[in-house]
Formats: sequence, C-alpha cells, structure tokens
Amino acid sequence: MKLIGASIIITCDENFKIIKDGGVLFCDKNIIKVGKFDELKQDDLQEVRFYQSCVIMPALINSHIHFEFSKNYSTLHYGNFGKWLDSIMQNRDMLMQDAEIYIKTAIKETLKSGVGCVGAISSNGLDIDFLSKSTLKVVLFNEIMGTNKDFFNIVKDNFKARLEKSKLLEDSRFRAAIALHSPYSLDIELAKYAIDLAKDYKMLVSTHFLESKEELTWLENNNGYFRDFFKYFFKNQNAKPCYSKESFLELFKECQSLFVHCLHLDNNTWDKISKLNASIVSAPRSNRLLNNKYFDLTKANEYNFPFIIATDGRSSNNSLNMLDEARCALFAYKDYEINNLAKEIILAMTKNPAKVLGFNNGILESNKASDFAVFYIKDIEMTTQIELNVILHANEVQDLYINGKRIDIENN
Ligand SMILES: [Zn+2]
Repeated sequence: MKLIGASIIITCDENFKIIKDGGVLFCDKNIIKVGKFDELKQDDLQEVRFYQSCVIMPALINSHIHFEFSKNYSTLHYGNFGKWLDSIMQNRDMLMQDAEIYIKTAIKETLKSGVGCVGAISSNGLDIDFLSKSTLKVVLFNEIMGTNKDFFNIVKDNFKARLEKSKLLEDSRFRAAIALHSPYSLDIELAKYAIDLAKDYKMLVSTHFLESKEELTWLENNNGYFRDFFKYFFKNQNAKPCYSKESFLELFKECQSLFVHCLHLDNNTWDKISKLNASIVSAPRSNRLLNNKYFDLTKANEYNFPFIIATDGRSSNNSLNMLDEARCALFAYKDYEINNLAKEIILAMTKNPAKVLGFNNGILESNKASDFAVFYIKDIEMTTQIELNVILHANEVQDLYINGKRIDIENN
C-alpha cells in the first residue's frame, strides 16, 4: 500500500468533494481510501509522499485524439472547414511521413499534461504498437472510411486486419474499438460492415457527426462544398450523400457510441441522438479553428448529455495539452458562471469521459483505479476558487500515476 497527499484533493465524486490536506491510500490496482492525509498514515506503507501546494485529481482523460496526425504544425488551413479539408487532402501523404516520430512525441505531450487515458482514433494503424506499449490506458478506435466502390474490398480487408491486430493486443489497459469516420466520407456498405463487427465484438463505436455546415448542406440538400469535393478529388461527377441525418443515426441504434463535434444539430436531431446509447464529445479549439463555432452546451444540458471535452488531433489544434483545451472552454462559454463552469470542465475531462471509456477511473474514491495527476499550483491552499485556479494555472504534471505507479514520462 502507498499513500500520497496534497494541499488539495479534488475527488470528482458525486458531490464533487474537495479535501484540504487530503490523502489517497492505494495499491497498484485500486484506491483503498480517500480522506485526510494524517488520518490515513499507518506503519506498513511502501511509500508515503506529500505534495505541498499541489492538487491531486483523477488522471485526465482525452477521449478523442488522432495521434497519427501529430506532424501538423503550420501546414493545414484554418478558419473554413472546406479549405481545411482541401489542405488535408493535399498534404495527407506528407503528414503521414515519419508519423512514428511524431506519435512518440505526442504520447509524451499527452502524459505531461496529466492525461492517463485516451480514446485514440487510428486511421492507418501506425499508432497501434506505440499506444499498446505506452503506459496510457487506451481505447483504440480503428477507423473506416471510403466512398469509392472499386476499393471496398481493399478497405474492408485493411480495416479488418487493423481491428484484429489491435484485438490481439487487448489487455486490462488496452482495448480495441471501431470508428466510422463521418457520414460524408463513408459509404453505407462499409458502415454496415463495421457496425456488424462492433455488434459481434460488443465494441464501442465513435464517429464525427455534423461538424460543419458543409456536411449539413451535403446531407440535407446534396449540394455545396462536398459536391465539388467529390468532383475534384475523386473525379466523381454524380456523387450523392449516402445518408440522411436520420438514416446515419439509425446505424448506431444497437451500439454504445460516441459522437464527436455535433455543432449543427436541430431539435429533431438532438431528440434522435438522445434516444441512442450515445455520448457527445466536444473539441472546442478544433471547432473554433475549423468552424468558428462552439458546441451548444445549453442544448446538451437540456438533453442530459454530460459535458466531455477532448483535443482532437494536431491536425486541428495547436497542442494536445488537455489543460489548454480546458482553458479554451473556460473562455469560450462566457455566459456561464465561471466557478460552476470550471467545475463542469474538470468533470468533462475526468468523471464524464471515464464513464464512456470504461476503465473504472476518473473519480477518486474507494475501489476506483489508482490513476492520479498531481499539479503544482502556487498558493492553491489559500484560494477559495480551487477549480478555477486549477484550470487557469495547471499546465504540466508534477507527477502522474497510472495503476498506482509513478510514470517516468521522459523515458516512456
Ligand atoms: Zn477527430
């Protein structure tokens, strides 16, 4: 058994309990007890450590990230979704070159920001080995994409091979799952193929959905940016959307799913999506950079969707630091009372995504996994606005524990 303590413990439990001079008693597998540091001290402890002027909270969770696109810094075009997608198409091969080097750097950046658990979207399988060997807890979403019938068999075989590979690597820390890229990029035959596998294997499914007004116009009116996109990039003069919004959502009715972005939902779509076994993930910086819009948090509350934030990939972000994402959300949602919002944002990267990814973490209480992030925040013991100051000042972890072990991030 080990004991760590800090000036402040944020439990992220049902009552959002905060403990001053708190401690967490734990073994590798799980937390034994959370309480006052002094009261948890006992004789037979392997390790005792108190972090002065620090906060201990559940290790953060980044539930939607594309590690394979980590090479992008200034290459891609922001401010307009269509121009961004054009720039992805034009630079895709270049961005995948030496992807391995950038994936490794991205894993390190992720750990440094206090993230212990990720939902990783894997388009090509280049990240599978790195993530399975890393100390991160991972749900690896094998992605399927394709609209050209000539290549369907190749796409299916490639997808199945990646899926089976990641399935073989499964253990208590690494799980395989499935991602349908989006309604504009995936034919219904391929979507059904992947969904049937998700049902057979009882896997979680993720998808990008209604991220842009270009996608909305395409699905609703068979018109706009995507008509030219298919003409130009695929020489397809007669492309048609493969779904209506409703028929796309129908695909997910027997799966547990994660919808990412959802910036353009009307009341009917909110209603339909709320009847699925689904959660919604929002990526505020990506949404600002590509679509000049933020996720409608008020509607999400109305339909009982817990707030979940993620960084998405470096292809639509300036960093993979979850605390940068948290700060963006704090400043973006200006109509919300700032202290309550800060608390919601902390839950949006701990308890709420934990429930979806299913690693029994995201909360500090007895029997939850021993996954903690420790942040030094000057004078944190003096403030009455703890949540707000954590979001304003936390940037890099002092220490990160996954399954009760202190992670050597530099050598990970
Ligand atoms: Zn994404």
